[in-house]
Amino acid sequence: MNYVFKPTPPATVAVLETTDRLPVRRIFCVGRNYAAHAREMGTDPDREPPFFFTKPADAVVDSDLTIAYPPQTKNLHYEAELVVVIGTAGRNVMETDSLSHVWGYAIGNDLTRRDLQLQAREQRRPWDMGKAFDKSAIIGPVHQSEKIGHPTEGIISLTVNGEMKQNANITELIWSVSEIISILSHSIKLQPGDLIMTGTPAGVGPLVEGDTCIVSIDGLGQIKTTIGPRF
Ligand code: MN
Repeated sequence: MNYVFKPTPPATVAVLETTDRLPVRRIFCVGRNYAAHAREMGTDPDREPPFFFTKPADAVVDSDLTIAYPPQTKNLHYEAELVVVIGTAGRNVMETDSLSHVWGYAIGNDLTRRDLQLQAREQRRPWDMGKAFDKSAIIGPVHQSEKIGHPTEGIISLTVNGEMKQNANITELIWSVSEIISILSHSIKLQPGDLIMTGTPAGVGPLVEGDTCIVSIDGLGQIKTTIGPRF
């Protein structure tokens, strides 16, 4: 193959306790997957099947970095999330078989330009500029499910400058990891390296320049991000 210019190397995320990197193919995100968060966003959690949006693979950022406050927003938000990493391709996956497609789990922070997202929602336009901007997916080291199994309960929490902002349990997910994988695989064929950000609990709010944001999930450690000056 003779490329007309050098292709960009794949985006990658860290793998716990190794120097290996996991190549990212796509990032799928579940909208409103905790009832209390759906309510704080002004929607009814009981009547909605899960819906998905995406971020580009190269939106990923490692933990323990400073990222610039992104452009075009006055309301950057954090969102603590459990991230599922797909290791085995699959389409029309049955719920009972879903977990066999998982390579591992990580902690994520689904950074959101909330003003742009809500403006798009009101105008019935796509969410991309609110959700899919550069460095919008902070993803911690991936814990291999072969070693840790499949987390079904545990506290998911987020602090800003040490102050607790989100505090829930992954048992509160409206749609479980197994259900999400099955439902998504009926729309698209899942591929190795696909990440699924499973949604955020209630308590979303702003980050400003100089803030330090830490997301923790029982069994998966924590990820830390500092917000630098506006880009
Ligand atoms: Mn989210």
